[in-house]
Formats: sequence, C-alpha cells, structure tokens
Amino acid sequence: MLAELYREILLDHYRSPRNRGTLDGRATHRSEGANPLCGDELVLELAVETGRVTEVAFLGRGCAISQASASMMTIYLRDRTAAEALEAVWCFQQLMLSGTALPEEFGDIEALAGVAKFPVRVKCASLAWKTLEQALSSDGVATVSTDEGS
Ligand code: ZN
Repeated sequence: MLAELYREILLDHYRSPRNRGTLDGRATHRSEGANPLCGDELVLELAVETGRVTEVAFLGRGCAISQASASMMTIYLRDRTAAEALEAVWCFQQLMLSGTALPEEFGDIEALAGVAKFPVRVKCASLAWKTLEQALSSDGVATVSTDEGS
C-alpha cells in the first residue's frame, strides 16, 4: 500500500511539475545538471536574498524519478536559507546511501526512499539535489553531472 501511495505521489509530480519554468533574469544562482546514464537533464534557477531562497524554478526532461525529485525539491526550498538547503542535500544523500529517514519537513520527498535500492535510479533521484548543491556553491552558471563516479 505504501509503495502504491509513493508511486502515485511521484507520478503526480512528474505529470504536473511544481515551479516549472525560469525566473526571467531574477535568478542569482543557476546550475545545469545532467545524468547521461538515463538522459535526464535539469536547469535550476534560484533567487537568493540575504541568504534565503525567495524564488526557485526548474526546467528539465528525463525520467519520472528525476523530474519528480526536482519538483518536490523546489517545494521544499522556498523560504529556506542557503545553509538549510545545503543541509537538505546532505539529508537526501543519506536517504539514498543508507535509507536514513528524512526529517518530517521533507514531506512528500520521502516517496523517493524506495529508489535507494536501485543504484542506477539513485543517480536519477539525486540529479536535482546535486544541481542544487552546485548552484549554491558557485557564483553564476555551473554544470554538474551525476555520472562522474561520486
Ligand atoms: Zn532518470
């Protein structure tokens, strides 16, 4: 039953992605990510003011897991501080690596927990988060790939 519920959540985000689009030049941070193994691509834009994410948007294409992960991540990000966002990347990596449960405020993102059993799919689910990490760790445009052995 739980697996079925999670599947529905992922498909809903895939079919109706939240915060899809661009920030029309308001972005302070932008990063492009790719997962060549699966063909997933992502462009993430963030507007960060006084250390807080005020706006976030993404464009992308690829499998349901990669796009649903990005959609759910953007919901989480709004009004978080950059430090909280980077901590969230770490929490998500722990979920993928060891199945460590996420704090409650992650909400629907928990639906990706089952992906941890499938290493190829972990790269799909992690793309958005690696792209986020890259965006916040740089000034300006950055690119990242989940297919570089990390
Ligand atoms: Zn994928």
